[in-house]
Amino acid sequence: MANDGNHWRVCSSCRKPIGYDQLYYTCSVSTCNRKRTALFFCSVACWDAHLPGARHRDAWAEEQRSPKR
Ligand SMILES: [Zn+2]
Ligand SMILES: [Zn+2]
Repeated sequence: MANDGNHWRVCSSCRKPIGYDQLYYTCSVSTCNRKRTALFFCSVACWDAHLPGARHRDAWAEEQRSPKR
């Protein structure tokens, strides 16, 4: 994963950068939040796009805020 230092993470769906001190979304399902494979989404729409492949029975997007730099 390329990181030029100007953003915190990239969206797991669209690969757009997620900056510091910014809202982002995680999946409510615990297997999507394991340390090594954790998923981060820049918007609810991107989280939504992850659902067809993930086959969750019961999931929602959780709003989070990235750390300050
Ligand atoms: Zn995205
Ligand atoms: Zn998920």
